[in-house]
Amino acid sequence: MKIAIVRERFEGENRVAATPETVGKLIGLGATVAVERGAGSGSRITDAEYEAAGATLAADAPTALSGADVVLTVRRPAASMLAGVNPGALVIGALDPYGNEADIAALAQAGVTAVSMEFMPRITRAQVMDILSSQANLAGYQGVIEAAAVFDRALPMMMTAAGTVRPAKAFVMGAGVAGLQAIATAKRLGAVVSATDVRPAAKEQVESLGAKFIAVEDEEFRQAETAGGYAKQMSAEYQAKQAELTAQHIAKQDIVITTALIPGRAAPRLISREMVESMAPGSVIVDLAAERGGNVELTQPGRVVEHNGVTIIGYTNVQGRIPTTASQLYARNLLAFVETLIDKTEKRLAINWDDELVKATVLTRDGAVVHPNFASAVP
Ligand code: NAD
Repeated sequence: MKIAIVRERFEGENRVAATPETVGKLIGLGATVAVERGAGSGSRITDAEYEAAGATLAADAPTALSGADVVLTVRRPAASMLAGVNPGALVIGALDPYGNEADIAALAQAGVTAVSMEFMPRITRAQVMDILSSQANLAGYQGVIEAAAVFDRALPMMMTAAGTVRPAKAFVMGAGVAGLQAIATAKRLGAVVSATDVRPAAKEQVESLGAKFIAVEDEEFRQAETAGGYAKQMSAEYQAKQAELTAQHIAKQDIVITTALIPGRAAPRLISREMVESMAPGSVIVDLAAERGGNVELTQPGRVVEHNGVTIIGYTNVQGRIPTTASQLYARNLLAFVETLIDKTEKRLAINWDDELVKATVLTRDGAVVHPNFASAVP
């Protein structure tokens, strides 16, 4: 059972799918692990550390991947990279299938079993494997740090001999995993924090962190949560009412962190150009939904722009800006899942295709796209 880890090819991606800690544990489960030289350098992990954990270093990706039964990745690898892996090899990572159906079909044609960790069910057993949570939590934290770094005032109230400085006002839009961590981080830095979400369950969570909850709480709001705990697409009428409420609120904010996402769809547009123009110069917006198109009309994904003195930070992969921590948690998520795929006495892969974790995450198998959400991508 050979497990391969290669250096990420996606531009600016400094995370890695395994750390010396998880490599050691994979070897303990009976695997041999090949790591491409330099795979960990973006996360400050040296080749020597992987080697000390028991991995074999490979000079290049084809050598690492040759004969692999499992490939652990952060981003979706190109199907062309996987020529040398064993037939049916598992390719496990954040494969980001929505909008990339042709690439998923290519993985099917390459004969690999592509496993998309984003689809891990949010059940107790799988919490330890939840890459969306581990990475969103870090994005929420880092988003506030990025805002504080460009904000040209202090965040906390300061009572000094030279007088009192008022605290900054921070508003978090979308109070899921990233948003709740953003609230907690902004509070820790001393800001006065408010937040909004379309899910009613978020209200109590926001308030328990000491932030004020701002939302139109009508009948639609009370029904706005799917059985899986995700947000529903809201009606145009609700969005208009909510926009009016938030528009008045945003005009008074110093820092706005947006995190609103709806699985499988473009990010909802929450902040218009006019709302940005209502903010005081020096204010900062961090759009954590930039990679999904952004919650802010003026966001340019991957860039920092200024409009009328308001800075709009549109970094994609904000968690990847603290790659060492992000890799540490991501690698543990993957290890926890791989553990469920291995027969520990026989020390070989023994996949239970009926396991709900496997059924939910497997995109391709035996040359076909098998995931129900992507059945139409079958070539
Ligand atoms: P997400 O990343 O899909 O979305 C971020 C937030 O944006 C969500 O809270 C969503 O409600 C909100 N949102 C969507 N549209 C909005 C709009 N128009 N205006 C304002 N906010 C909007 O969410 P997430 O962080 O993945 O969390 C989704 C749910 O899953 C939450 O209920 C969370 O508690 C739950 N969860 C459960 C587990 C588990 O049980 N293992 C783990 C993590 C998260």
